[in-house]
Amino acid sequence: CEQMEDPATAKGVVKRDIIRIITPGTVTEDSMLSEGRNNYIAALLRTDDFTGICFADISTGVTYVTEFLTDDDLIFSEIARFAPKEIIIDERTAKDREFRRSCARNTTASVDVVGDTFYDSEHAKNIILDTFTPDKYAKLSQLSTGTAVKALGAVLKYLRDTQFSGSARMVDLEVYSVSQYLSMSPQCRRNLELTENIQTLEKKGSLLWVIDRTVTSMGRRAIRGCIEKPLVDVKEINRRLDAVQELCSDIILRSKTRENLKSVFDIERLMTRVAFRSVTPRDMQAFVRTCDSLEKICQIAPEYKAPLLRELAADLDTEQELCERIRNTIDDDPPALVKDGGYIRPGFSAEIDELRELLRNTKDYLSKMEAELKETTGIKNLKIGFNKAFGYYIEVSKSQTGLVPDYFIRRQTLTTGERYVTAEMKELENRIIGGSDRLQRLEKAAYDELCDAMLTRLETVQRTAKAAAMLDVIAAFAYVAAENGYVKPTVDASSVIEIKNGRHPVVEQFLESELFVPNDTLLDCDKNLVNVITGPNMAGKSTYMRQTAIMVIMAQIGCFVPAASARIGIVDAIFTRIGSADNIFAGDSTFMVEMKEVAYTLRNATKRSLIILDEIGRGTSTYDGMSIARAVIETICRQGGIGAKTMFATHYHELTDLDTVFDNVKNYNIAAKKRGDDIVFLRRIVKGPADDSYGIEVAKLAGIPEQTIADAKRALKDLLEKTPEIRRVREDSE
Ligand code: ATP
Repeated sequence: CEQMEDPATAKGVVKRDIIRIITPGTVTEDSMLSEGRNNYIAALLRTDDFTGICFADISTGVTYVTEFLTDDDLIFSEIARFAPKEIIIDERTAKDREFRRSCARNTTASVDVVGDTFYDSEHAKNIILDTFTPDKYAKLSQLSTGTAVKALGAVLKYLRDTQFSGSARMVDLEVYSVSQYLSMSPQCRRNLELTENIQTLEKKGSLLWVIDRTVTSMGRRAIRGCIEKPLVDVKEINRRLDAVQELCSDIILRSKTRENLKSVFDIERLMTRVAFRSVTPRDMQAFVRTCDSLEKICQIAPEYKAPLLRELAADLDTEQELCERIRNTIDDDPPALVKDGGYIRPGFSAEIDELRELLRNTKDYLSKMEAELKETTGIKNLKIGFNKAFGYYIEVSKSQTGLVPDYFIRRQTLTTGERYVTAEMKELENRIIGGSDRLQRLEKAAYDELCDAMLTRLETVQRTAKAAAMLDVIAAFAYVAAENGYVKPTVDASSVIEIKNGRHPVVEQFLESELFVPNDTLLDCDKNLVNVITGPNMAGKSTYMRQTAIMVIMAQIGCFVPAASARIGIVDAIFTRIGSADNIFAGDSTFMVEMKEVAYTLRNATKRSLIILDEIGRGTSTYDGMSIARAVIETICRQGGIGAKTMFATHYHELTDLDTVFDNVKNYNIAAKKRGDDIVFLRRIVKGPADDSYGIEVAKLAGIPEQTIADAKRALKDLLEKTPEIRRVREDSE
């Protein structure tokens, strides 16, 4: 809320009004934003047939829109991709209790329900045309259901209603199709710990933590965006990989690129401050420094060979004219804030210089006047002073008031003396006060003009920012690849995932005394569709399966992978069911959560998908669980089944006979050796089923009391004696 009138001239109560409403999804203040992530607000229109969804980040000016056949799984998978802070939904959707429950389960965003007027199509059209340039508007013609356009209209109206002026910041409009990116359920993103670890939800321990070696804030946001949106277009992925390869092998070019990027400022968010008129003079200097660094990159750009690097460099506009203007306008050592004044460079305007001179000279002028007055009046202790209520005055002590000349006008009586003014003094005062007002106005006008000039360049600056961010990402991928010994994967349209000596990029970072044991993976849509993986607890089954999924994601974002070699046939979606006691707060039991995830997987997976199932069925009685697990594998691998590549870890050794029933199921196990009562994990994946779970040995490792371990062994022995079929399976495998 601000005063809308100048208190000096306003009559009566000064008018005040709301100038901006700040909500979780519309924050633009740096202090309230995280520099490494976008701050999205989403708007959703969900009809019986179609859903339109839009994600806008006012702090960087980017907007994404898409539409699809209404499917709540898909809606929440997109919401998980962008992780908005606020979601606008229509009234009808808001009444759907199941949807609201899913909201609570799948997102922490605050949800606003808005009326139908927000989704009015005529209004949407007008506000979109008003916000975006015609070429951006034209992109919307790819959308045919009207839902996405209405959702976009709703978000823009919301921005306008809350931000008043700043919605003009939105310049970038991306229309995308959900099939353009690798799809993952919210649980899958969480389970694979792509951007945060599952325990503390911090970046440390996630894939992002390992590969984010970017050097700019914009790069940090872009690399997160890459992980959120892995590509499925083989050509586009290979363009990235080729660019990474060049910077990976050319150390000098890489370090020159990164060194220059280091002084690139967050010009995306800076432009938002320009639009909101909260940009500081020091921001403007940072803009110039950024352009200088980008200029240096442009100078090395002829050395780039990879087409993507060349294109990114070509997109860098170093804004020479604008920088010159900033240099000519802004002082070399400006104050931190505009309100402090004094930020316009000397020589920029003769009038500003004169006013400054006048104000600077006032002090000298006043002391000269004081000396002259003392001289002409003979009042030795006469003093010139200033206070807010009376302005400048001449103070004469009581004993001397008899000497006061006629032209002194009395203003105030004190116990110690009298205060006067003279006409000459009042005139000087007017000049000073008027002068500083005028100076402030002139500086502000020059500054506003500069801001306007910057805004005319908004689109090109945005393009430059995007290119610089992506260059930073590519250089970071190259840096990580060189540092951690990653290799360029072969990415193609085949249906093969073949990894030699693959490692888990995060787990290997945490191992201190021991080395990570690399393992191979082979999956395809032919004889290696389903890998059934058995092995002792703690052997490394989950790690092995996750590393495969993570490497697929790494390859599809254009990053090198931790392996000796890798061939990745494009995957359209990854599904995971990895045990964790999440979501119980949302009203489901552990087993219910597990089954919902399996149901989601079976509903959505295609022949191009990768499914990771870690011990499904264990949350219920052994025989029910085992039967469900077996049936799920059959649903995937039987003729005419889902046909998605699957890794399935289980302790149900009974399932290892599936390889005799289906020729596309293969057994693997993670080797471990029993030494006396103890167990040694070899961490090597080998063909064939495991012999035992060694559950009791692992329990011993975990520190279960010796007596309890002895009791467990006795119980197992009894069980084996009483249950001949279990004994037979065990004896067979031994
Ligand atoms: P459970 O059946 O009890 O769930 P698991 O077989 O899934 O166990 P993981 O959780 O994958 O076992 O691995 C246990 C630990 O072993 C990991 O935290 C990791 O520290 C270590 N580990 C796993 N794989 C490897 C490897 N290839 N090289 C070195 N250490 C590994």
